[in-house]
Amino acid sequence: MTDTLALLATLVALLLGLAVGKAWERYKLREGRWFDRRKVRESPHYILGLQLLVSNQVDLAIEELAKAAALDPAALEIHLILGNLYRERGQVSKAVRLHRRLLQHSRLGRTEQTYVQLSLGLDYKQGGFVDRAFQAFSEVTRLDPDNKYALLNLERLHAEQQQWREARAIRRRLTDIADEPRKPRDQAILAFLENELGLQAVRRGEPQEAAAHFRSALDLDDGTVPASLNLGDVYMRSGRPREAIAVWEQILEKAPERAYLTFDRLKTAYTEVDGPARFVALCRRLIEDNPQDWRARLALGRHAMDEGDPARALDLLLESLGQNPHALAVHQLIWRALSTLEFRPTPVRRYLTLTRNAVFYLDPHVCTRCRYRSTELLWQCPQCHEWNTFVEERLPQAENVEGTPA
Ligand SMILES: [Zn+2]
Repeated sequence: MTDTLALLATLVALLLGLAVGKAWERYKLREGRWFDRRKVRESPHYILGLQLLVSNQVDLAIEELAKAAALDPAALEIHLILGNLYRERGQVSKAVRLHRRLLQHSRLGRTEQTYVQLSLGLDYKQGGFVDRAFQAFSEVTRLDPDNKYALLNLERLHAEQQQWREARAIRRRLTDIADEPRKPRDQAILAFLENELGLQAVRRGEPQEAAAHFRSALDLDDGTVPASLNLGDVYMRSGRPREAIAVWEQILEKAPERAYLTFDRLKTAYTEVDGPARFVALCRRLIEDNPQDWRARLALGRHAMDEGDPARALDLLLESLGQNPHALAVHQLIWRALSTLEFRPTPVRRYLTLTRNAVFYLDPHVCTRCRYRSTELLWQCPQCHEWNTFVEERLPQAENVEGTPA
């Protein structure tokens, strides 16, 4: 019984304390007058500012929120919103000044301090002050070691400066704190970072270290296509074509849609080991597995041209064009073949019929994350910085195009 009463008394005291604390927090003595902080949130400027923000009238929102913020220098969240809006608007120095002023507040708790430092880091990053951004984000990780935003930003800053070793260290930390379903993606990113370290070793002229990085990348994720390509290149340069072939052939299994990246390489390696027939067989097998494979047909066509058989090359190239009428590389080789055949009317007519409705487009690679387009395949998106997000956009086949009403 006494226990229950004691508990009740403690609760009441606690609630009372909270209420008094709240009132104390709400009223503040400023310049000899008690000032109601709640009024800031009830002021028309604050409410109007938020409404303008919701309706996306950012400049007017900034104006109103600045008036509300002036009413109470200690209303942290208004200042934070305002600071982030300044940055969004490109007014970086204003944002920096505001966030630094907030940091001088002695009464900021750890969470609040972390948040303001993070905002400051984003300001510096936006303004291109890399060193200061580093400092701010590092400070965030000191206050909150598992802060993912700060870690991601630090990783990106390192990656932009090609400091792959540092980027890898941070991605390892991110991998450690990631939820289980996120881990494979983190492993894949680590593999791409290893691949970059390998490329740096190649440029330094250290093939053994390079190969070790490429192998680590493939251990982390055996679907890392550039690591397979680069490892094979190291083998080829050190006169080991059989090992190169083994590595490149794995791409055909793991990522058949990227098989074409191995074509020129495999052709050279096969020719060195046991003649070009093996390459022709490979292309035929790929076409059998996937009848829409226009790149294997293009490769066969090129091979036929090299062997001095433009008529056979043209057959293969027109088949390739039927699967992808938009590929400039196919058109260019067809023009070469037609010119070698001295523009005989029958093949020229076939070509013209097939391409009547074709549209050229030069940037078929699209980032699945941010829709950035590129003429060539990229492993890291220059816009959103994500790894391995590019797919090839395909327009309809020539047959289908012809079937549609003009
Ligand atoms: Zn992107």
